[in-house]
Amino acid sequence: MKKLELLYSGKAKSVYKTDNIDQYLLEFRDDLTAGNGAKKGSFQQKGVINNKISNLIFKELERSGVKTHFIQKISDTEVLVRKAKLIDLEVVIRNVAAGSFAKRYGLEEGSILPLPILEFFYKNDNLDDPFINDDGIIALNIATKEELEIIRTAAHKTNEILKKMFDLAGLNLIDFKIEFGKTDSGEIILIDEISPDCCRLWEKDTNEKMDKDRFRRDLGGVALAYLAVLDRLSAQFGKE
Ligand code: UDP
Repeated sequence: MKKLELLYSGKAKSVYKTDNIDQYLLEFRDDLTAGNGAKKGSFQQKGVINNKISNLIFKELERSGVKTHFIQKISDTEVLVRKAKLIDLEVVIRNVAAGSFAKRYGLEEGSILPLPILEFFYKNDNLDDPFINDDGIIALNIATKEELEIIRTAAHKTNEILKKMFDLAGLNLIDFKIEFGKTDSGEIILIDEISPDCCRLWEKDTNEKMDKDRFRRDLGGVALAYLAVLDRLSAQFGKE
């Protein structure tokens, strides 16, 4: 596999073409942003840590039958993935009220939700990723009704698997955001990453935050929290 030109540089990852037209190379950088890029930071080894966490999770998801872009880890910060066209949605699942959901509905952070709540946001930085419902998604040609059903089912299945994985690592999965893409053959697969950047993870016993909220809310100990998540997942699910 040969790494070719940079295709796209996002807030924390860069995407490269490869000499295989069906495969991309994702590079995890040390950058950390919040508030749609308004707040910027970084810490050493973040790219390495998130690449490891995400690969370990994607492997487990594949093992459980969730279709993902994962092919193989290439280096500490690089992973080879299946090429897919991003579907412009941020798919959020919430098990416990927190963040924008708690604020929107006047709930105390930490209120347990009686069922997992799936929300769609239109992935558009210029519009600040607004909330969107099924009809809006179909009307704006973001995805079809059938594609939405596939996404919904895969997202809920992902939630069930992640909840169990993090539970074994001593963490409560409060909420998370995932993204989906479409391959040239029309298959919908899970893409992007799953890491403390896009999940809320609270210590089971103390509710201590072990995710990007430590950065968003200036709580300190960001790197230590990410490393602890990696160490505990690795102890349960192998080295990467
Ligand atoms: N999230 C994300 N990227 C975003 C927005 C949210 O990864 O652009 C994740 C966030 O880390 C949390 C979940 O999605 O795990 C729900 O976030 P929420 O809507 O509560 O937004 P926030 O409070 O982060 O603004």
